[in-house]
Amino acid sequence: MSTDPRAYKYSGDVLQDRVILITGSSDGIGRALALEAARLGAQVILHGRNAKKLEKVYDEILAIDGAARPSIAVLDLASANADGYTTLANSVADDIGRLDGLVHNAAIVGDRFSIEQYDAVAWQKVMHVNVTASFALTQVLLPLLRASDDASVVFTSSGVGRTGRAYWGAYAASKFAIEGLSQVLADEHRHASLRSNCVNPGATRTGMRLEAFPAEDRSLLKTPEQVLAPYIYLLGPDSRGVTGQSFDSQ
Ligand code: NDP
Repeated sequence: MSTDPRAYKYSGDVLQDRVILITGSSDGIGRALALEAARLGAQVILHGRNAKKLEKVYDEILAIDGAARPSIAVLDLASANADGYTTLANSVADDIGRLDGLVHNAAIVGDRFSIEQYDAVAWQKVMHVNVTASFALTQVLLPLLRASDDASVVFTSSGVGRTGRAYWGAYAASKFAIEGLSQVLADEHRHASLRSNCVNPGATRTGMRLEAFPAEDRSLLKTPEQVLAPYIYLLGPDSRGVTGQSFDSQ
């Protein structure tokens, strides 16, 4: 089997019986990953802020032959408080009793201004949704993840989370922070069966990309379905022992 995660080839049951929570799975890359993980045998927990959109993905998974019934966790990461996170973790523990994978995919792009002009409240919202929410969700789910004998946490990075670029403001800073959060988590679990890594999906044809680049030719972009290989690699058994790293989908 290939070890380049971008070209990872996997069998149809590579995620069999794994329980995987994917944030922001109502749309874009998260939705595509939820459908593919379900096809590969995972029991998926769909997370998002819009119950109606999540129910559509839920129905799409039910229509997949042999897929495990998913569940839905609605939590708006912009406004969730400690009780919201605890309730989510308790319902995973009570209803399923296991968690093997956690994909931090939900994010917002926020304003595209220079640092000089960036509004501080808008800055804080991006940092909150993109970073603090990932920390808070990881924290409440750690007991379940630690109980798994092969747990994987996947954070979603970006090219501007590795090299800063003008006018990407809070979004770029948030993705640098995500890389750091992933490395800290990995180092704290270097002797445990929990790995933590980042994936940068690269330019992908989603609503977020359209918001950031409204004028570009979208037909040239990869679809969400085309950027999933590193996520599947990191969520499945072939990445056991791989931790603290950052991968690209393209
Ligand atoms: P989309 O905008 O298509 O999807 C984002 C998802 O996050 C949606 O499900 C959205 O929910 C959810 N979400 C946003 N805000 C919240 C919130 N406050 N609470 C709960 N859920 C929320 O984005 P992409 O699929 O493009 O992006 C996925 C990840 O990939 C992000 O982390 C992004 O930074 C990263 N990325 C994307 C690139 C690209 O070119 N597309 C390039 C590099 C990185 P709803 O459906 O309700 O809006």
